[in-house]
Amino acid sequence: MKALKTFLKSIAIILMFFAIVIYLYNYLGYNDYKYEGKDAPIPTGLHPIVKKKTEHLINEAEAQDISIVITESFRTFERQEELYAQGRSEEGSIVTYAKGGESYHNYGLAIDFAIVKENEDLTWDINYDGNGNDKSDWHEVAEIAKDLGFEWGGDWSNFKDYPHLQMTFGLSIQELKLGFRPKVETEVKQ
Ligand SMILES: [Zn+2]
Repeated sequence: MKALKTFLKSIAIILMFFAIVIYLYNYLGYNDYKYEGKDAPIPTGLHPIVKKKTEHLINEAEAQDISIVITESFRTFERQEELYAQGRSEEGSIVTYAKGGESYHNYGLAIDFAIVKENEDLTWDINYDGNGNDKSDWHEVAEIAKDLGFEWGGDWSNFKDYPHLQMTFGLSIQELKLGFRPKVETEVKQ
C-alpha cells in the first residue's frame, strides 16, 4: 500500500513537471516562432514576410526621396560557397564571412540594398545625401528598415555589412541548419 502511494506520488510529480515545461514552452512563444516542423526543406526564395517588408521598405524610402534597389535576396548554398571562395581560394576581395548554409540569405531571410543616385548609378557611399536633408540616405534607409523589424548589418560590431538587412524571427543559424523555420503566418509588428 505504501509502495503504491509512493508510486502514484512520483507519477503526479512527473506529470506536473511536464505540464510546467509545456506551459513555459508556449508561454515563451517558442512554439510560435520556432516551428514549421524540424527538418523542413531549404527554402527556395525569400520568406513571404521578408518579401512584404522589403516592399514596404522600398516604398517608405521612396516617400523620403530615396530610391533603393535590392541587389541580393535569396541565395543558394552553392552561390554562398562561390562568394566565400572570393578573396580566399579565388581572386578578388573578401565579401562574406559566411560559408554555404551559414548566411540568413541562404534561408530567404536577408536582403542587401544599394542606393540609386539621380543619374541612375548605384552607390554604396554611406555618406551620400541625395535628398539633401543633411542626413545620410543610407542611415535613413537603415532606420526605416529597423522600424519594419529588420536587423541592420551596419550595427554589427565586428564585421560591418552596411548593405545587409535580415529578419531572424529569433532563429539562430544553428537552428536554421537543423531545419527549424519561422512560421509563414508569423506576423511581425507592422
Ligand atoms: Zn547580405
